[in-house]
Amino acid sequence: MRIIGPIIVIVLAALPFAACQKGDGLSYGAGARAAQAEGQSPEAAAEISDLDLPVDTLFARACGHGVKTFECAECRYEVGVVKAPPGLFADGLFRETKVASRRVEQALTLTGEVGFDERRVRHMSVPADCIIRRVHAVLGDRVAAGQAILEIESVAVGEAEEDYLAARALLTLARRNHDRVAELQREGIASEREFFEARQELEAADIRVGAALGKLMRLGMSGEDAAALTPDVARGFVTLRASASGTVLSLRAVPGKAAGPDESLAVIGDNSTVWVSADLYERDLRRVARSCASGTVPAAFETSAYPGETFSGTVDFIGPVMDEVSHTVKLRIKAPNPGGRLLAGMFVTVRIFLPGDEETAAVPETAVLTDEGRSFVFVRHHDDYYVRRPVETGRTWPDWTEIVAGLAGGETIVADGSFLMKSDVLRSKMGAGCAD
Ligand SMILES: [Zn+2]
Repeated sequence: MRIIGPIIVIVLAALPFAACQKGDGLSYGAGARAAQAEGQSPEAAAEISDLDLPVDTLFARACGHGVKTFECAECRYEVGVVKAPPGLFADGLFRETKVASRRVEQALTLTGEVGFDERRVRHMSVPADCIIRRVHAVLGDRVAAGQAILEIESVAVGEAEEDYLAARALLTLARRNHDRVAELQREGIASEREFFEARQELEAADIRVGAALGKLMRLGMSGEDAAALTPDVARGFVTLRASASGTVLSLRAVPGKAAGPDESLAVIGDNSTVWVSADLYERDLRRVARSCASGTVPAAFETSAYPGETFSGTVDFIGPVMDEVSHTVKLRIKAPNPGGRLLAGMFVTVRIFLPGDEETAAVPETAVLTDEGRSFVFVRHHDDYYVRRPVETGRTWPDWTEIVAGLAGGETIVADGSFLMKSDVLRSKMGAGCAD
């Protein structure tokens, strides 16, 4: 509506608004049914909704302007007809579709929980039992790879530092000894055997430093921090850094708190997509697995945090393990999470849609409009003319609505933009197009 607003203003200003006796427009009222229309006077028949009259009757009618009603820019709405020039389809305002038979999808309802997309996040834990001394980030911070997040103090780190410093000191001695023996050997004072022993010691010392450094790094220390260690600064402290850039999505670290290697203290990454983990019963496993193997399985889910709102996703993975107690398998659903509104830990009710053997006529849900409790679609009649036709709807799926009655299949209907056809505003715009 926003798009066509300015055009309408111009159209309204330019239209000469010829007086029309029947200018009150479409009667959308439920009115009497077609059966009652038989044998009634034209005045009484005019009260009947266009939805209850055969298409041929509607297109045969003439209006007070001496033309066919459907051709009259001012009266065609009385017979439920709109004229939509191809330009509006080319502009993307409208989209047509054929009424086609569609394989019925069967919904399976599961319970689930929102979690992080584990491929997009990194968990931060401590490498050994420790005390958290400082926390450098807060929840929601954008952090860069390598940025300091936590500072911990650990006995294991202190011991590893001592080992590393001792190995480094021994390496210095071994190197000095090696260089001295090499000098003596060149002068013919030391034997070749003494030289090889010195070189062996140097190599062994080098390996010991490498091993001690490896241990420190496994405890979370960076190479730079290790290189900067001296007996004065070694106190068992390690600064833990972000391993990748991202947002701090979870943070359970508090200064002074003891922590162990088996707990996740922080989660850093991106939650623009999330994983919903749902429990799938053993009896449904085969059906779901078969559907996943043959195509995308759509899912829709709701959470009590956002009543009335439906989120969508697709089944991504079927877990490899069956829970012995509940006899369920974890089903993973990948879902976009714009704005990060879905939070890890939220409980959700999930519906997944599996293709069935049954086929039925269905149209995009945007095609179906309702007025005073009756559903209708706009069907293309000929050229640029579209007419409202009543339909009976059945089941609904994400984006699709079943048509139980009213359409035979093969008709061209308006899929997108039909609500604009219904609106009075567009009627003025269409009317302008016909008036020429
Ligand atoms: Zn007219």
